[in-house]
Amino acid sequence: MMIVFLDNKTTIASIMPNQDSEIKDGKLNIENEIIANIGPIKLDGEWLFFWDRFLTPQQFDVKNEDSFIVDVPNNWNDYKINEVERYGHATYLLNVKVNEADLGEVVSLYIPNVATAYDLWINGEHLVSSGKVGKNRKEMKPHEHPEIITFTIKQSEFDVLIHVSNFHQRKSGLWNSLTFGTVEQINELKSKNILLQSFVVGCILIIGFYHLVIFYYRTTDLSALFFAITCFAIGLRTMILREKLFFVVFPQINWEIGVTIEYLAAIYGILFFLLFIMREIAFEKIKKINIVFVFLLLFYSLFVVFTPARIFTNTYTFLEILIFLIVVTIISISIYGVKMKFKSAYLNLFGLFVLALAVLNDLLFYSNKISTDEFVSFGMLFYLFTQSIRLARRSAKSYERNEKLSKELQTLNTLLETKVEKRTKELQIVNTKLREMENARRRLLASVSHELNTPLTFIQGYVKAMMDGVVPKEDSTYLRAVYKDTQMMARMIEDLQELSTLESGQFTFQLEDVDIRLFLRQLYEEQRPSFKEFDLNFTYKEQVAKVNIPVVCSIDPIRIKQVFNNLIVNAQKFTPAGGIVTVEVEIPAKENENEIKVSVIDTGIGIDKHDIPYIFERFYKVNGKQYYSEKGSGLGLVITKEIVENHGGEIGVMSKIMEGSSFYFTLPIKEENNGEKKNNTSSRRRRKDS
Ligand code: ADP
Repeated sequence: MMIVFLDNKTTIASIMPNQDSEIKDGKLNIENEIIANIGPIKLDGEWLFFWDRFLTPQQFDVKNEDSFIVDVPNNWNDYKINEVERYGHATYLLNVKVNEADLGEVVSLYIPNVATAYDLWINGEHLVSSGKVGKNRKEMKPHEHPEIITFTIKQSEFDVLIHVSNFHQRKSGLWNSLTFGTVEQINELKSKNILLQSFVVGCILIIGFYHLVIFYYRTTDLSALFFAITCFAIGLRTMILREKLFFVVFPQINWEIGVTIEYLAAIYGILFFLLFIMREIAFEKIKKINIVFVFLLLFYSLFVVFTPARIFTNTYTFLEILIFLIVVTIISISIYGVKMKFKSAYLNLFGLFVLALAVLNDLLFYSNKISTDEFVSFGMLFYLFTQSIRLARRSAKSYERNEKLSKELQTLNTLLETKVEKRTKELQIVNTKLREMENARRRLLASVSHELNTPLTFIQGYVKAMMDGVVPKEDSTYLRAVYKDTQMMARMIEDLQELSTLESGQFTFQLEDVDIRLFLRQLYEEQRPSFKEFDLNFTYKEQVAKVNIPVVCSIDPIRIKQVFNNLIVNAQKFTPAGGIVTVEVEIPAKENENEIKVSVIDTGIGIDKHDIPYIFERFYKVNGKQYYSEKGSGLGLVITKEIVENHGGEIGVMSKIMEGSSFYFTLPIKEENNGEKKNNTSSRRRRKDS
């Protein structure tokens, strides 16, 4: 005889034992078959059942008296036999007829959990005890552990006699199938079951540890913690329920504590899963419902802890209803998630669907309504796996987002750097300009005060001389000199004001379309008489490409006249008597055919090449010697340049010392384009930089 203490409760769908052989009236007849060919055989069917008595093998002859025929597996209180109650003791009997060929064969019987203690005999030989059977609670000792017994078939017909007593829990009697087969068949069954259960438990625990580590490194992520605890609870429950691996590791744990842990693992598994769900979903109503569930589970767990198994196992219906409601709620949430197109919603729903099927199966299985198997741990593993995918996807997405953000940040940084660089350069340029302007302003102020100071000193000198009587008061020469100086000062101030309005851009030019040839000729004519005074020769030359066509320029006539006259006056001033001043007009200019060029050429004193670049600056003095007359303020050329540039033209000079100077300015010609007049002036007009 060999008693093998191994876990065996569950048979897995894929290796389900053969159910073809029928058990009728407490008899299994397989005399026409070889066990090795048809096993393993589930011993489900009609067993003989003796309530309230322990029939001994010696009472063989009475076995058919006062017996019931009952369906195994089932709880005996579900038989609806009048005197049979949940708590009590009974004898099960099965007669097996085997083929002569199987005589001497060593076979095994796989006995899962029997509620809650039993003794087993085969053909009068006592083979195994689980716990201690008794006729009342005090006498018996509960124990539930799947076992395999191995025996040799000595006769072609033998009896399987089992005493069972239950005074401790909801389940009663042979509520789980027994399996019979050759030693190899049963061992294979057992190995596969253990392997599968270890696999399931291993996977669940690894998922749990993984999320615990995530929580360890990111303690704000409570989802990970709740999920990890759910995994541990489910893993523990799986270890207790199926192959009872838990009791292989901790054999000293007694039956009562084992059942309590089994219930608590289920309760806390669901409780932490609800907490996990609550963190994952956003809408408040469901959260409130979940809180109610959480509290109910919490109270129920206390109830389980503080009451004995015989009480709390009988409230299984309450737990059933609660789990059912929770599953319905979670499924509703998932359907809502799909509707609202939440992330991973389909995956979630699919996982839940599989789990819900497994839970439904188990509810029916444990209340003996169907005879399948315990599947919830597989369903749970699958669901936990889908949740892990969801969590993993979420963290991968957040990494991705992080990477994207840091890349964006990097580009933004570089962009910002270039922007800052650009702005700094711009600021530097503006700064330099401002500094130049400030210097120019200082220079201007210094020059203005100096320029005003000179005539003022003269005036003071004259007036003092008159007051001191050095100059007779009747002599008007000095007074006239004073008057000239004041005139000159007034002129200078006037010029400064004009220049300032021109430079500020506030000056508005009164533009008109003018036949430029006619206009210039008129200016020349106006100036001609003054040349006689200076004893200078004044001539006018035109180089015109198309003689008869009027050339139109858009100009402010008064201002252009000012430019022209200024150049003429300068030529008069710096050309000694007998010299020649020539006005030369090129239409169009040689350099640019969209412009006209007006030159005022003299045979005067000329300008040193070192001075040329500066003569368009304010108060620039050639040879350091300032020349003043009532017509000159040292600002004439600056104003002239400003006006020409405002018309979109250019001004310049070519000069040789002692030979003469040639001042010129250009003006854009107004083009006639496609019959539509287009003002070339405006398109080319530009302001001076400063
Ligand atoms: P101002 O009103 O004192 O003449 P401008 O700005 O018109 O001042 O001229 C500036 C300086 O340029 C003159 O002081 C003179 O030295 C020089 N300049 C201008 N025109 C001529 C010219 N035709 N020949 C020689 N020097 C000239």
